Amino acid sequence: MSKAKIQAIRGMNDVLPNQSPHWQYLEEHIRHLMAAYAYQEIRFPVLEQTQLFKRSIGDATDIVEKEMYTFEDRNGDSLSLRPEGTASCVRAAEQHGLLYNQIQKLWYMGPMYRHERPQKGRYRQFYQFGVEAFGMSASTIESEVILLSAALWKNIGLCQFLTLEMNNLGTPDNRVAYTQALRSYLLDFKNVLDEDSQRRLETNVLRILDSKNPETQAVLKDAPVLEDYIDSDSHAEFEKLLSILAEAGIQYNKNSRLVRGLDYYNGMVFEWTTEELGAQATVCAGGRYDGLVKQLGGGDTPAVGFAMGMERILLMLDELGKIPDVVGQSVDLFIALIGDENQSKGLLLAESIRQAIPTLRVLTHCGGGKYNSQLKKAYASGAHCVLVLEANEIKLKMLDDEAQNETLSSHDVISKLENIFL
Ligand code: ATP
Ligand code: MG
Repeated sequence: MSKAKIQAIRGMNDVLPNQSPHWQYLEEHIRHLMAAYAYQEIRFPVLEQTQLFKRSIGDATDIVEKEMYTFEDRNGDSLSLRPEGTASCVRAAEQHGLLYNQIQKLWYMGPMYRHERPQKGRYRQFYQFGVEAFGMSASTIESEVILLSAALWKNIGLCQFLTLEMNNLGTPDNRVAYTQALRSYLLDFKNVLDEDSQRRLETNVLRILDSKNPETQAVLKDAPVLEDYIDSDSHAEFEKLLSILAEAGIQYNKNSRLVRGLDYYNGMVFEWTTEELGAQATVCAGGRYDGLVKQLGGGDTPAVGFAMGMERILLMLDELGKIPDVVGQSVDLFIALIGDENQSKGLLLAESIRQAIPTLRVLTHCGGGKYNSQLKKAYASGAHCVLVLEANEIKLKMLDDEAQNETLSSHDVISKLENIFL
């Protein structure tokens, strides 16, 4: 009886060899971008104490209420797979003294875990690239963080498909005052609100602004507006940010409904959205979170950051045909080994070629077989040319120009390849 094959966990994707070059393409762009802005990479574990996320993201948020992978380890400690990077980044930076009287510009990239309903652009393991900047309170750093996200769109050809949405949540006090006003307004309409929003009246009032329910939306039309509760300093700083963006030629929409799902934001918040991905419209989201470091036991530390969903960006790149053709071509030279006597000889020749020309990508065919079948594999590999070791000869075969085929002596191989490839 055959045993059932084990499958991957729902919502957790394998990246197969035909897709991994696309990931590498995006990752390379991200690494270059971060180098150009002189941000430093930080890496932290995928598992943390559950408390870290409860205390930072907020007990009443969707992430903590419904989406976290939480379990007890063998010691009985409650651990959670990280649902996002900001909390872990703050924990790590604080734990190692990076935030004391210092400015830090950090970035990270890696898998995050949320138990959501899997669909296009929404997975249970997904990758984020994120940026977190600590110790700077002015709109200058907010502008830089948005400018660098815009630079990535430009570098990978997505500018015209993305829209920047901006809002100002004001100071934490402004946020509290507005939340109270919104709540007391909405209480009068409690019975008209959808079920989720009724629950949020008690737990997370601002999120009601996100409701897609038409009746709730109708009630919200006459609700108090956030802007009226923002104090003048916060307003002025936000205007400065907007004017820098305008000067840089970056268009934005002011969206007073944009509140973000996490508790820790204050001041400016933003999202980059697209019409290319259906319901999963947001590809990058962030904002200022000046209270979080203190909330997690550190000192007063202003902070700004964002996280970008890498699968959503890759979906856009693939669907819009924005990945250059050369991405995925991984072989320059194919070495065909015909007959027993040429197996070790060919492997050693391949070694010496790689030593002499380190940039050359050399695929040695190690699977035996006749000349014709190896040649077919050479064509399929995308190689530019083939070295065929057959009997006592080394033949060079150009796959796109038969006229240049020739027989080489072993001394000439490297100089010939240098002529072709360098
Ligand atoms: P959404 O509203 O789509 O659920 P979110 O507000 O929960 O997003 P954030 O926590 O702000 O998302 O995460 C930042 C980015 O990470 C999102 O804009 C999105 O691009 C990506 N992202 C979030 N959740 C997922 C997921 N389950 N699968 C794939 N990408 C995701
Ligand atoms: Mg979500």
